[in-house]
Amino acid sequence: MKQNQKYSVAIHGGAGTLLRGQMTAEKEKAYRTSLENALEKAYQLLDAGAPAIDAVEAAVKVLEDSPLFNAGKGSVFTAEGTHEMDAAIMEGKDLHAGAVTLVKGIKNPISLARDVMEKSGHVFLAGEGALNFARSLGHVFEEERYFYDEFRHKQWLEIKDSNNFQLDHSNAKDSKFGTVGAVACDREGNVAAATSTGGMTNKKFGRVGDSPIIGAGNYANNHTCAVSCTGSGEYFIRGVVAYDVSALMEYKGLSLEAAANEVIHGRLPKIGGDGGLIAVDAEGNVALPFNTEGMYRAYRTSGGSKDIAIYS
Ligand code: ASP
Repeated sequence: MKQNQKYSVAIHGGAGTLLRGQMTAEKEKAYRTSLENALEKAYQLLDAGAPAIDAVEAAVKVLEDSPLFNAGKGSVFTAEGTHEMDAAIMEGKDLHAGAVTLVKGIKNPISLARDVMEKSGHVFLAGEGALNFARSLGHVFEEERYFYDEFRHKQWLEIKDSNNFQLDHSNAKDSKFGTVGAVACDREGNVAAATSTGGMTNKKFGRVGDSPIIGAGNYANNHTCAVSCTGSGEYFIRGVVAYDVSALMEYKGLSLEAAANEVIHGRLPKIGGDGGLIAVDAEGNVALPFNTEGMYRAYRTSGGSKDIAIYS
């Protein structure tokens, strides 16, 4: 164990047009409780000496199991009225990574991504192949109705006969994001990142967003930082956003905070992208910038700071 090593965790449940006053007090409380549960699950693991990779997987599983977020249970509907989920996980110690895309029926896609990383000899598995791999390892599958959420079904019915597709969590078209993610730095100074999503409402043609793409929506490197993104996936892919934060730290010597701000408030809006990210560095510092009205987010550090917030 490193002396004086600070440990920390940050999580998100998506960014978007989250306006104060548009949510009932009851619903807001439910979001805060889910965020708190995920945060504490991860923090207690880190506190007990668990590695960052265990903490991020555990936090994301809690959020996947909640219908409030667009990942696992509560994933948005595709144009076919089904659910296709994406997830990625990465360890900063040795740059090991695993990801899955276009998977159906998997209760916890993030755990499948972890098994891809640890047991497949590959990094990225898609569709039927990923599902066969999951079956071979005995992953839990759920029926379609487990993923059904009335609110998300309504969201889909509103646009299903159009060519529109939509991100989660807002009123304005094209500005709703509900992906979940976690980043952590453990007592050894190892960082890890995990991201999981149902993607965009009414997506078709096997659309894949940034979330399962290493370097776009998810990245971890002990020399720099761990990052999990949420937002307009197409732009996060083009901006190679998660890796860009790391590269600014590595090549330009920027701090975590400066690098994360430069990407979210500088580079990403320049190409038309909106959303946010959560990041930690190997010193346990945390950054949670977003350029939308809100982002479901929370963090806790061993230094004693903690916050759970939704709006800017
Ligand atoms: N980035 C995700 C995607 O494009 C959406 C989100 O953040 O909610 O699939």
